[in-house]
Amino acid sequence: MRNWSVPVGRVFGIELRVHLTFLFLLAFVWLTESAAHGPVSAGRGLALVGIIFGCVVLHELGHALVAMHAGISAKAIILLPIGGVTLLDETQHPIEPGALTWKRDIRIALAGPLVNLIIAFSAGSILLAVAPEIQLWARPYVHSSNLARSLVWSNLWLALFNLLPAYPMDGGRVLRALFSRRMDPVQATRRAVTIGQAFATLFMLVGMLWNIWLTMIGFFLFVAAQLEERSAVFQSVLETVRLEDIMLTDFATLSSADTLEDALDKAVHSLQDDFPVLRGSDMVGVISKQKILQALRAEGNGYVQSAMNRIFDVAQKKESLASAFRKLTSKNLSIIPVIEDQRLVGIVTLQNLMHSMALLAESRKLRKAALDA
Ligand SMILES: [Zn+2]
Repeated sequence: MRNWSVPVGRVFGIELRVHLTFLFLLAFVWLTESAAHGPVSAGRGLALVGIIFGCVVLHELGHALVAMHAGISAKAIILLPIGGVTLLDETQHPIEPGALTWKRDIRIALAGPLVNLIIAFSAGSILLAVAPEIQLWARPYVHSSNLARSLVWSNLWLALFNLLPAYPMDGGRVLRALFSRRMDPVQATRRAVTIGQAFATLFMLVGMLWNIWLTMIGFFLFVAAQLEERSAVFQSVLETVRLEDIMLTDFATLSSADTLEDALDKAVHSLQDDFPVLRGSDMVGVISKQKILQALRAEGNGYVQSAMNRIFDVAQKKESLASAFRKLTSKNLSIIPVIEDQRLVGIVTLQNLMHSMALLAESRKLRKAALDA
């Protein structure tokens, strides 16, 4: 979803992006309105879209700020034709068992609808007090001919709609958090997804009879639920795979006393891009083929010791792939040495990670097929 969206600014340090399909929505409103009622009405139509999406942004900011308060940073808010999505960066923190995070998840989920309720009630009471001619209770509730009334009702609608227990909408997220008290995260997500897709199907069917927009919302909801389920499964695979399952055990090392030319010579004969550097049996750094070449070019022949990167992180054999992944990405490393009893027993590199994940998935499938047969 991040592809196909363009950055339009930052709020509270969170990147705000607009999905390209959203621009189609604007064009659609402009064309249909100006064809039917002329450009003035089309302008009001766009203003209404602007108001609704402004409130969607505030809704998403509600999620993002509560998440940030809980220590999860928000990467971006993306505006789609059917609403907004906040991308939270959940990779930076170890995933704790659901039992500990369910309250936090519920707070994050409820923050969005709460923002809309606050806007609806404050705007509503101000309008009733100072501008009764707006006729808050008259129909149509949301229409471009009465923008002030639309502000109140669209926020109320946004809050109620998002509170439906249809995962991945906010109500569904609350439901998943409640499920996760008693089951593992993947199971909880599966159950919430099933309920969400039942809602989505209902929307699509009712929409066909009543309003085509509802069909579209149902369709997007169905797809979104599917994607969420997949990413939950992927996350759990990352958590269950141990480094010993995928680490490279047949690998080359360099010595800190090697000259760069010797190192390059060894590197040429290896498929590896990154090498652990040892002094005796101690790990003292890491160096990449690239870095060896750079150092040779810049300073001529020297020792690996002076060119290697002394900042690195090690992992234990039993550590999960998810944890190694967090270490690799948080420090921008490309290699993690795997240690057992102070001894270097393997390496995990970004280069081999994706490759071994695919192999592992295949071998699990084969094993499962063999068991089923
Ligand atoms: Zn929300």
